[in-house]
Amino acid sequence: MLQGDRLATRFYLSEGMSRADTALRLTVNGLEGHLRRYEALPELLADHDDIRALFAPGAEGRRQAMNMWLQETNDVLQSSDIYVMGMDGTTIAASNYQRADSFIGQNFAYRPYFTEAAAGRNGRFYALGTTSGVRGYYFSAPVRGADGAVAGVIVFKIGLDALESSWAGGEFRILVLDTEGIIFMSSEPEWRYTAMLPLTGERSERTTASRRYSDATIGLLPHSRSAEQGMPLLRLANRDAPPQEYLEATQAMPDAGWTVHVLVDTAYLRGQARLAVVALLLLICAAGFGAVLVWQRRARLAERMQMQAAAQVELERRVDERTADLARVNALIEMEIAERRLTEQELRRTQADLVQAGKLAALGQMSAALSHEINQPLAAARNYADSAAILIDRGEPVRARENVGQILSLIDRMAAIAKHLRNVARKPNEPLKDLALPLVVAEAMQIVGNRLQAAGAEVLVDLAPDLPPVRGGAVRLQQVLVNVLSNAADATEDGPDRRIHLTAHAEGDAVVIHIRDHGPGVPAAIAERIFDPFFTTKRVGSGLGLGLSISYNIMKDFGGELRVANDPDGGAVFSLILQSALPRRMAAE
Ligand code: ADP
Repeated sequence: MLQGDRLATRFYLSEGMSRADTALRLTVNGLEGHLRRYEALPELLADHDDIRALFAPGAEGRRQAMNMWLQETNDVLQSSDIYVMGMDGTTIAASNYQRADSFIGQNFAYRPYFTEAAAGRNGRFYALGTTSGVRGYYFSAPVRGADGAVAGVIVFKIGLDALESSWAGGEFRILVLDTEGIIFMSSEPEWRYTAMLPLTGERSERTTASRRYSDATIGLLPHSRSAEQGMPLLRLANRDAPPQEYLEATQAMPDAGWTVHVLVDTAYLRGQARLAVVALLLLICAAGFGAVLVWQRRARLAERMQMQAAAQVELERRVDERTADLARVNALIEMEIAERRLTEQELRRTQADLVQAGKLAALGQMSAALSHEINQPLAAARNYADSAAILIDRGEPVRARENVGQILSLIDRMAAIAKHLRNVARKPNEPLKDLALPLVVAEAMQIVGNRLQAAGAEVLVDLAPDLPPVRGGAVRLQQVLVNVLSNAADATEDGPDRRIHLTAHAEGDAVVIHIRDHGPGVPAAIAERIFDPFFTTKRVGSGLGLGLSISYNIMKDFGGELRVANDPDGGAVFSLILQSALPRRMAAE
């Protein structure tokens, strides 16, 4: 850290030093250039005829013209003043002749530039004007008379104020010291006319004799010199504040007898060095911070990746678990399916067995019924035929004929049975029509009339007046009605109440016919089977068990239904549900 500070200070000080050197070079060049412009002019003018003529006897009259000429020349050359002195040091002509503080008549014999020129040499001197109070640099040259001897002195005074004021306010402090070490030009006005060398009596005397600084009092500029890292430092005491430290670059101007000093405030340079060190520190801190950030980021990233990996593993574990569960469930389902299949197969087999058994049962029933129905009339017919043969042999044709008649009626009966069987097996091709129910009922009543009469049954018909036509075949519907009514008559044959109620009414799109008797009704066990073919409870010879089965199928063909139920007051209720023709027609219209 200290090393860094040292390095930075060294860098900024040496950089300040090199800038001071550059500024110094420029300042010296500027000063020298400024002086050089006027250096040769006094000598040149001293040789001018008009000037020399001033010293011819009786030339006083020329002085005014000379004054004017000097003024013009001074304006053109931009010098401060040009004046001519006699050998006694009194000014006889001057460019500032018009001014109140004109040099004319003034005696400057005490100025070294005069004594030098009067001695025949070119003189140069820097001083504060005793008359004008304006600082200037004086160049002088002897003016020689016709005999070649020095007759007078011509002097150029150049102002340095403009040059000096251009130094003010800059980065550098600029001092110009004379041979005695007195600051006579400075970018800081308060340092002007202070000495940097001790004011010994000898020096003071020289300054006072030449009245170089007129009446100005010369103070001492308290200072000390040192060096840091090989660079010269100047410390100037301040009245109230701590001493100020400067880098010092110095160059002598031997022609003018001056020394130029350029000072650079080290406070600013040291500040810059500190700033650089701080900036470097900050940079290091920022880099460290950045590194920490990057490290943290990496750590976080690694942590996140670790977490992700863990989550992935967990996910995979869960997926595996789930997969295993699913596989288990799958296996279970498969097992169940296999079981079901087995059960189904068994069921099918059982079903098939049942069907087979049912078929056999039905066949058995049918064979029993058929064999009885056919055997009985066959046996009877045989008896009748035998008797008829005997009666014919005996010559009793009338009785024989009676027997033949009996045989014929037995044959008719068998033919009727055959017809029944045909009806079961074959579907009639009768197309469905719209039927007026009262008509069908009336015809059926006619057909079944004898049977009812024989059973002593009474049918009470009650048809709703606004019954719509129904869909069906007239003959088949009559057959159903005849069947159901005959069964009702059979059921009530031995009972006390032989009334049979036939009612019909419309119910939505259907027409329902109820046929109710007052017989024993249908036990639940039987109700399930009464629509099966060949199911009968009647004694052998009384019924084939086909009536309800045929009726059921007929009703299905009509798109209707045949149902059985028991009336709460006793007796069976058969319901014939038929499609009413009305809505369909209306839809067709
Ligand atoms: P069948 O009349 O030749 O026996 P059906 O198929 O017409 O054949 O009748 C089957 C059986 O339904 C009858 O044997 C009888 O037991 C029963 N059954 C039919 N109608 C009635 C009724 N109104 N009351 C009681 N039982 C009936």
